[in-house]
Amino acid sequence: MINSDSGTDSPKGQDGEPAGAPHPAVAQRPMVPAPEPLPGPVVDAHTHLDACGCVDAADVAAAMDRAAAVGVRQVVTVADDMASARWVVDAAGRHPDLYAAVALHPTRADTLDDAARTELEHLAADPRVVAVGETGLDHYWDAAPHATQAEAFAWHIDLAKRLGKPVMIHDRDAHDDVLAILRSEGAPGKVIFHCFSGDPAMARLCADAGYHLSFAGPVSFRNARGLAEAAALVPTELLMTETDAPFLAPHPHRGKRNEPYALPYTVRALAAIRGQDLDELCAAVTSTTRAVYGLPDPTG
Ligand SMILES: [Zn+2]
Repeated sequence: MINSDSGTDSPKGQDGEPAGAPHPAVAQRPMVPAPEPLPGPVVDAHTHLDACGCVDAADVAAAMDRAAAVGVRQVVTVADDMASARWVVDAAGRHPDLYAAVALHPTRADTLDDAARTELEHLAADPRVVAVGETGLDHYWDAAPHATQAEAFAWHIDLAKRLGKPVMIHDRDAHDDVLAILRSEGAPGKVIFHCFSGDPAMARLCADAGYHLSFAGPVSFRNARGLAEAAALVPTELLMTETDAPFLAPHPHRGKRNEPYALPYTVRALAAIRGQDLDELCAAVTSTTRAVYGLPDPTG
């Protein structure tokens, strides 16, 4: 979240905000219409079901059903604060095809105190948690000092290593610093750049380092040529895709309210950009994503 396409959304709602409504920045927007189903199952590698308005198990089941109906068979829902971290772990424990990732978002880095560290260590060790994230650096909102963000990022990298789980990176306007910290701290075995926003040169650098790159709705935007060029050169064994819902709805529904069921628009855009057969792309991206998160094939 927070990679708002409009650039006007606030960095984050406050803890203790009334639950049950989508994030206030998207609540008034129309939903993306349901796409044509994909030929094969895919995984939404990064979304925020709580910010989409899900509260209880019935809401989650309904969102998962809408996703499964168009081929989005498994979903990773990502926390960005402590309340969200508790919620995503609980929600993932109640649905067989939902998994979680926990961390304090870089815009909240100044809240990573001892109590938060202890609780995050506990939550991140849950078997339904498949990554430590989203963590990283956000030099766009600049909601926490750069040094505080860097220290929190380093702590999350270390946690990912201790747990043997991937680190899921939020990198907004901070490409060089993110790469430098990964180098200086020593990257965990698996690194995922969520909502990759770099240029082709950075994509090449990441691919050479074996980092996974996950592309969200912006790769489908008409004015995102550099991003499309980047997506075209990522090897399929490092390529992932995500909604980052409720923001970043893909073309031709940019600006609407996003949900995991909208992922097929981005998958089709990626197939077109890469000149790849849709069946083949679904199979490759699904196998990559299951491997990086350690997800089962739910049908077999
Ligand atoms: Zn996100």
